[in-house]
Amino acid sequence: MRIILLGPPGVGKGTQAANIVERYGIPHISTGDILRANIKEGTELGKTAKEYMDKGLLVPDEIVVSIVQDRLTKDDCKEGFLLDGFPRTVEQAEALDKALDEMGIKLDKVVNIQADKEVLIERIVGRRICRSCGATYHIKNNPPKVEGICDKCGGELYQREDDTVETVATRIQVYLEQTQPLIDFYRQKGLILDVDGTQPIEEVFNTIVKAIE
Ligand SMILES: [Zn+2]
Repeated sequence: MRIILLGPPGVGKGTQAANIVERYGIPHISTGDILRANIKEGTELGKTAKEYMDKGLLVPDEIVVSIVQDRLTKDDCKEGFLLDGFPRTVEQAEALDKALDEMGIKLDKVVNIQADKEVLIERIVGRRICRSCGATYHIKNNPPKVEGICDKCGGELYQREDDTVETVATRIQVYLEQTQPLIDFYRQKGLILDVDGTQPIEEVFNTIVKAIE
């Protein structure tokens, strides 16, 4: 099962990624993680990537693509993979296509989890996190028993500083604008699976499973 997972902030992409990789026994490949791993291991690609990052520059597509391609040749990807956070642009998607062609493999689906902007904003802005154990709550959908206090450890709950309505709205808007061309690209190839992300978590997962099996 070779899948790309797309979804705006707050749509529950991380949860679905975890469910998918568990069900299909495939690795969860996030470009952030593999970039960090390459830098930590001091690979040639990692060193090159670090030079850009140290200067505060974006790592160029060709390096990101090489790092992803290198990761996809590892043994644990034989039965498939879930790509998360890559590709971000049509240029990256085209480069990925070329890389997969060279490897003689094809994508099965591009899962596109969607939700209205208002729903996403409410989900993110209502989020509260425990300072001590990291447990997450939502003031409306999953409130703690006592306001501001973690059920599990009694720790103090806080809201992330950048989780205000304005910054969240901007983040979502940027995501939508950047991702639309990518969605169009994969839709033309008949690979897009649109999933309603406002359904309960299990329903979202069931919809994905039904469509890809
Ligand atoms: Zn806690």
